[in-house]
Amino acid sequence: MKIKDVAIIGSGVSGATAAFHLAKLGRDIVVLEKSKKENSCKICGGGMSSSVQKYFSFDLSPAIEETINSVEFTWELKDNVIADLPGLSPFWIINRKYLDNLIINKAIDHGASLIEEFFVNEIKKDGKVWEVKSNRGEKLLAKSIIIADGSNSPWPKIFGLGARIPQKAKTISITIKGRGNLKDRTSRFEFGLIKHGFAWAFPTKDRVNIGAGTFIGKSSTNNKEMLEVFISSLGFKPKQEEIQENLLNVWNGHHRLDGEGIILTGDAASLCDPFLAEGIRPAIISGYEASKYLNNWLIGESKNLKGYSLSMKEKWGNSMAWGKKIAQVFYRFPLIGYQLGVKRATAPKRIAEILSGDLGYGDIAQRAIKRLIMKGK
Ligand SMILES: Cc1cc2nc3c(=O)[nH]c(=O)nc-3n(C[C@H](O)[C@H](O)[C@H](O)COP(=O)(O)OP(=O)(O)OC[C@H]3O[C@@H](n4cnc5c(N)ncnc54)[C@H](O)[C@@H]3O)c2cc1C
Repeated sequence: MKIKDVAIIGSGVSGATAAFHLAKLGRDIVVLEKSKKENSCKICGGGMSSSVQKYFSFDLSPAIEETINSVEFTWELKDNVIADLPGLSPFWIINRKYLDNLIINKAIDHGASLIEEFFVNEIKKDGKVWEVKSNRGEKLLAKSIIIADGSNSPWPKIFGLGARIPQKAKTISITIKGRGNLKDRTSRFEFGLIKHGFAWAFPTKDRVNIGAGTFIGKSSTNNKEMLEVFISSLGFKPKQEEIQENLLNVWNGHHRLDGEGIILTGDAASLCDPFLAEGIRPAIISGYEASKYLNNWLIGESKNLKGYSLSMKEKWGNSMAWGKKIAQVFYRFPLIGYQLGVKRATAPKRIAEILSGDLGYGDIAQRAIKRLIMKGK
């Protein structure tokens, strides 16, 4: 049996990004995906910083459903703060099915192969070669593995990589046809209704993705009712039975994301922002970085993959360490956080910079935390 250079588990945005870059570098790649491309339906708000375009040599616009130039924040549906995002829209609402398929199709154009309906249920190493098996007994051999199968991945625990006990944000979400009373090119963030978290409304072409996430402690039992209040305020009739519940791994500390010939990316690596649940950008960054470090290892230019974990720490983790601290203080004292963080005169500019990826949490955190702690005393 031919031994592939890399077997990628999962064709979501992180796996697809890694596949695209590795295939472009000439590596022999196989992507193993449990579902079928045309049926894939990702639960995701679709909010994405336009800065990720720089990771691709092709245009991402076929996946963009709306370009956002204004973000509206509320506290219990009042006390509005509007942040106008200047210049070219730094924030897009994308269709996840289109984005993931666009990237994986480009990877295939560069020679990657995709095997659909391949549910990976066994990964083991025999000497230097990885053996991957599906639940139907199909078998594949590879020199290296990228674990990109999302928040429910069992593999980090099995291989002793990533967060020992992943921190889970609890999400509830729904997609509703129409625009309700949502203003054009505007995203909504509501902070007062949801305990220990926030609610969002992101417009797509003909629908609105609405949801809520809780980031610290237990989620409140009335979050679904509160989401319904939010949905009604947007001019829609809430349909409780269509609200979906999901757990999302969020960043919870600096961890080893590589082993011998194995790398974790995206949600499987628990990279999602613990304050705002931004997961697409770190999935793309990690897919890109994984491809660089794996390629160097495969062609013998580096002895191990440690550089990947270090690079993710530097490019993402250091900012998330501050994001986690901000989340812990903000969601514990949310009204103070809203008054001092969101309602500040400089906030709209800062928010625009965070959403566009120009600003890391570390840049704003020390001053913000100091303000919150002083006020909380
Ligand atoms: C309700 C909700 C709203 C969100 N909104 C946003 C947002 O607006 N903006 C944002 O940036 N982030 C958002 N996120 C987070 C974002 O969706 C994730 O961080 C992102 O999808 C991570 O990409 P990934 O490639 O790591 O994993 P995924 O996109 O989950 O891809 C994993 C892939 O692996 C496949 N797979 C799983 N198990 C196996 C297996 N055993 N064998 C083979 N294949 C397998 C899956 O089918 C899937 O295709 C949201 C998340 C939720 C839950």
